[in-house]
Amino acid sequence: MINQIDYTYKDRVWCGKINEKYVNKEVKIYGWVHRFRDMGGILFVDLRDRTGIVQVVMSSELKINKLSLEDVLEVVGIVKERPIENINPNIATGNFEVIAKEIKILSKSEALPFMINEDYKDIRDLKIDEATRLKYRYLDLRRLQMFKNMYFRHKIIKYIRDFMDNEDFLEIETPLLAKPTPEGARDFLVPSRLQPGKFYALPQSPQLFKQILMVAGIDRYFQIAKCLRDEDLRADRQPEFTQVDIEMSFISKKDIFLLIENLLDYVLNNLGIEISIPFEVIDYNYAIKHFNSDKPDLRFNYPVKKWNNSIKINLNDEDFDINQAYYIFFKNLVLTRKELDKLNEFLRQNNLKFLYLISSNSGESFFKGSLVKFVDINEVDNYLRNENQFYNGDYIVFVISSKNYLNELILIKNYLIENKVLKPVKDFYFLWVDNFPLFKVEEEKVGNKLIRKISPEHHPFTNVLEEDKDKVYMIYEKLKKNPNIIYDDEFVKEVLSIRSLAYDLVLNGVEIASGSIRITDIKFQKIIFEIIGINEEDANRKFGFLLEAFKYGVPPHGGIALGIDRIIALLLGYNSIREVIAFPKTQSGTCLLTKAPSEVDLSQLKELGIKLMEVN
Ligand code: ASP
Repeated sequence: MINQIDYTYKDRVWCGKINEKYVNKEVKIYGWVHRFRDMGGILFVDLRDRTGIVQVVMSSELKINKLSLEDVLEVVGIVKERPIENINPNIATGNFEVIAKEIKILSKSEALPFMINEDYKDIRDLKIDEATRLKYRYLDLRRLQMFKNMYFRHKIIKYIRDFMDNEDFLEIETPLLAKPTPEGARDFLVPSRLQPGKFYALPQSPQLFKQILMVAGIDRYFQIAKCLRDEDLRADRQPEFTQVDIEMSFISKKDIFLLIENLLDYVLNNLGIEISIPFEVIDYNYAIKHFNSDKPDLRFNYPVKKWNNSIKINLNDEDFDINQAYYIFFKNLVLTRKELDKLNEFLRQNNLKFLYLISSNSGESFFKGSLVKFVDINEVDNYLRNENQFYNGDYIVFVISSKNYLNELILIKNYLIENKVLKPVKDFYFLWVDNFPLFKVEEEKVGNKLIRKISPEHHPFTNVLEEDKDKVYMIYEKLKKNPNIIYDDEFVKEVLSIRSLAYDLVLNGVEIASGSIRITDIKFQKIIFEIIGINEEDANRKFGFLLEAFKYGVPPHGGIALGIDRIIALLLGYNSIREVIAFPKTQSGTCLLTKAPSEVDLSQLKELGIKLMEVN
C-alpha cells in the first residue's frame, strides 16, 4: 500500500524544493521523467515538476516496468544526502536524492516530438522551431523556463491587483460581446443568432465602458482586460492581448503619470527589479525631431543634431550639402580596432556617405570616411569641438550625407547597439512621451485617386491641449466651408500641429502604454467626430449611448492602458510576446494547438443566417 500516511495536497512536496529539512524524512512527490540512467539494476531518475528536478534512486527490488521520458510518476521515498562525489551543483536539489520506497507509473508517454530535457540555459538558445513548440504547447510549457515566464506573469498581475486595490481602484469586468470601439484596428465580429443580421464586435479595448463607468460614479476603475484587434501580426502583436486598463475621475495628466510610476515601482520592486521614478517626460515633437521616433530608446541617448556651419565641401553630389547635414555625436565611445574595421565595412556595404572623427585620450584625433577628402578637416574639427564641448577622450562623430539623414544616422546607431558597442545607461529606461498630436492625416488610394483622411492619432475621445483648442474650431470651420481643403498641404500642417492630452509610456524604445484625458463636452466631441468624418447620424448610431450618458453629469476623467504582454516580454528579455503568453497565435492568427480558426457546420451557419461567399 502506498498511502500509509494520509496525504493531502497540502503535504505535496515539490521536486525542486527538496532540501535539508526533508533529510531522512518520507516524502511523496509527483512529476515527469526528465531523464534516467540504468546503473546495473539501480535506476537514477530525474523527476521534474514545475519547480525543478530531483534525483530519485530506484532499486531493482521495486520491479518497475520500463520507463520512458515524460512518464508521469508518483513516488514515495526517503530523502537522503548524496555522497559527496555524487553532488550535482547544477540543480538546486543537487545535494539530495530521494530513495524510492514505492513507485507508481500514473501515465506513460509516447516518443516525444521534441526533447524536453535538452540542457539549455535559456529558451532563446532552443533550436526547435516555433511551430512545433506551439503545436505541442503543453510539452513546451513543461520546460522550466516557460514555467518561470508564466509564474512571472502571474506575479506581475497579482501585484498590480494588490496595488490598485490599495489605491481604491475597483476591478470591473466589461462585456466581450459589445459594439465597435474605435482603436484604429479592424473589429472581430460575432453574429447574433437571436437577432439575425446583427453582429456584436469584440472590444478593441474597454474604452467606452470605462468612460461610462466614470459617468456611473465608479471614479477609479481598472481591469486586466482582453483586447481583440484584427490586424496584421508581428512579434509584439497578437489578435488578442492583455491590457491593464485604467480610468480615473477628477484628475489631470500628472495624476496618471504619478499613478503609473508608483504602480510600476511597486510591482517591479516586488519582483526584485529596481527602477527610479519619476520617469522622464519628453515632448512628442522633440522625440520625432531628434530621434525620428515617437518611442525613442534613451538607454542610448544620442540625439541627432543639426550641422550649423557653412563649411565648404567639394563634392559634386546634389544629395549632399553639409549645411543641411545632421550628425550624431557619440561621446566617450571606445572602439577597438576590430570594431572600427567592422563598422567601416558596414558603412561601405550600406553605401552610406559619411565622415567621422575619432579622438583618443592621448590627444590624437583623426578623420575617416568617404567624405574625408572633400572637406577641410581643420574647419570641421574646430566646429565640432566648439559645438559639443569635447576635447580629448574617446568619441566619435558622424556626418551623413543624404536626404535620409535620420534613417541613416539611426541605422548606424542601431548597428552600434546591436553589436553591443554602445552600452545602455540602464537596463530599463522608462520614458513618457507627451503632447501627441490630436490627429493624423492618412492617404489612401481609391481607384487611381489619392484620398486624404483625418483620423485621431489616439482615439476620438481624446481631449485637446487647452492652448490648441481654438485651432480645432478653426479647422472645423475651414473643412465645413471647403472639404477639399484637406488636399492643401498648409492645411494638413495646421491639422497635424494640434496637440492633444494624449501620452505614451515607452520602455526601452517600445510603447508599453498609452492613454489620454478625455473629452467630456458633448458639443466638442461632436466637432471631433465631424472632423474625422463621422457625421451626426453615424455618431449617434455608434456612440449615441456615450453621448447620452454625458448629458447626465459627467466627471472630468482620463486613463491609460498598459500592454502587459509587452511589458513582461521586455522585462524578461524576449523579442516576442509569444514567449510570455500560454497559448499564442501565429502570424496568420492560427492557434496551432487547437487549429482555430476552423470551419463550422453548415447547420450552425444556417442558424445564424449566414451564407459563405468567395473572398479574394
Ligand atoms: N483605450 C486606449 C488604448 O487601448 C487606452 C486609453 O486611452 O486608456 O490604447
